Formats: sequence, structure tokens, C-alpha cells
Amino acid sequence: MAEIKRISDPAEVQAIARQWKKEGLSIGIVPTMGYLHDGHRSLIHRACAENDRVIVSDFVNPIQFGPTEDLDKYPRDIEADTKLCSEEGVDIIFNPAPEDMYGAEGSFLTSVAVDKITKVLCGKTRPTHFQGVCTVVNKLFNISKADRGYFGQKDAQQLAVIRKMVKDLNIDIEIIGCPIIREEDGLAKSSRNKYLSAEERQAALVLSRSLRNARKALEEGERDADKLREAITAEIKTEPLSDIDYVSVVDAETLEDVSGKIQRSILVALAVKIGNTRLIDNFSFEL
Ligand code: AMP
Repeated sequence: MAEIKRISDPAEVQAIARQWKKEGLSIGIVPTMGYLHDGHRSLIHRACAENDRVIVSDFVNPIQFGPTEDLDKYPRDIEADTKLCSEEGVDIIFNPAPEDMYGAEGSFLTSVAVDKITKVLCGKTRPTHFQGVCTVVNKLFNISKADRGYFGQKDAQQLAVIRKMVKDLNIDIEIIGCPIIREEDGLAKSSRNKYLSAEERQAALVLSRSLRNARKALEEGERDADKLREAITAEIKTEPLSDIDYVSVVDAETLEDVSGKIQRSILVALAVKIGNTRLIDNFSFEL
């Protein structure tokens, strides 16, 4: 197996991808913000199994953070990330600096915006987030010339937004959604879990626990979306360190709120602050 290359220059990655395409090789891209854990690893593993060549981007994308968010303290460890990618057989870990992606300050003038489904759920409190995500992901698709892009269901809204962008803009790439990887006790793996104190780490279990109970209720026949939402909210409120951003039951595709009787496949999604750390989790239920 060829040794992994760590590259920061987008043009260099693009030139290699161009050559791979000439040779008829398939390419997978796994966009990440680094500080890789087993959730990322599952995407990378699948990408390596399904493609001749794999590029993992490792870039804390400044334009998807709001002014009061955690851009500066977002955890980074490029050496550990390179090791994980190398173990999985990744060909390139693309680790640009912000100026490699956006040039000198004030010089980047383009953005990609998906309407409507970016205004709900996380978009309510993070109004510029998905525009930042769509813009960087578009750039990554163009740089990598990938045939397949791998995204986690952990960020269910992001996955829905990327799928819509790809469809609307006829981007020639297959989007592959991968299941949520959890800690043994149920907490969804996240780079942000590092921020949690021991007490907060324990309190954070209320997210996955309340979702597990909601799924059980659905499996036992509950079809009232409002009751479901109320039960999840009540359970989260029993945890004193929690502060709810949203608890939502939405149409799995349009992300529109569902109230009353559940008649279509739904996404049950929540965002909750535990102390200062905002965590998200979700599950889909197919009808
Ligand atoms: P991030 O580095 O947080 O931007 O995540 C990069 C990709 O990994 C996104 O597509 C995430 O949805 C995915 N991801 C993050 N955490 C998990 C997890 N626990 N399980 C599955 N995928 C994940």
C-alpha cells in the first residue's frame, strides 16, 4: 500500500485526482473537521472499501462557525488523524490552512446556499452554518473529483442539505449516509465530547436515553408526534445540567415539523447544551 500523503495545497490534490481519473480509478471523499474518532473511522473504512482511492479532508472550516461559536478552541490533532487515516488505507489527508481554501482575508466572494431546510433545526440558532458547510463541501467535491462522498447520519440535517444541494446543482457524485457510531453507554461519538467534564459526560447520556425511549414508544405503536416530543422534552428536563435548543419531530425528507398523527417517515432530532457544550443526536423512523 502506498504511504499516505498529507497535502495542504488544493491544486496539488486536484492534480493527483485528475491523474487518478485519467487512469480510470474511483475516488471517495470523506469531509471532516479532524480530531478523528471511531465515528469518522467508520466513514473512512467504508470509503476505503468502496473506492480505488480515498481522500480525507481534515479542515476546521471557519466559515461554518458563528461569531460566538467554538472555532478557536475546536480540538485538533493532525498527527493522530494521519495515523488513523494511514491505518485505514487512505491515500491523501487534505489538511489546508484557511488561506489555502479562502485566500487572503476578504478575497473569497462565492457561497453556496440551500434554502428552507437550512432554516429549521440547527439552522434556527446557527443561521450561517449550512451556507459555510455547502460552500466548503462544494469546494471539496471539486478539488477531489470524487465519485462518492461519505457523511454521517449523526449530522442528519447536514446530510439532507448535502443531498439536496447535489440534486439541485446536478453535482456528479453519489452521497452515502453512514450510521451513527456511539460510545458503549449510548453517547454519540463527537469531537466535541472532549469538552465535557466527568459530571457533564454523565449528564450527556440524557440525549441518547430520551431518543432510545422515543424509539421504543414508536415501535410499540405511538403515532402522536406531539406526545413524542413532549416525552423527550420532559425526560431531558430532568437533567439539571441540560439546556434544550430544540427537540423536533420532522418529515425525514423536507425537515418540516410534524404534528398530530405520524403518517410518514420521520427524523427525531435534538440539540441540547450540557454546560457550555452543544450536543446533537437523532434517529430516523421509517413508516
Ligand atoms: P465532523 O468532523 O464533526 O465535521 O464530522 C465529519 C463527518 O463525520 C460528518 O459527516 C459527520 O456526520 C460524521 N460523524 C461525526 N460523528 C459521527 C458519529 N458518531 N457517527 C457517524 N458519523 C459521524
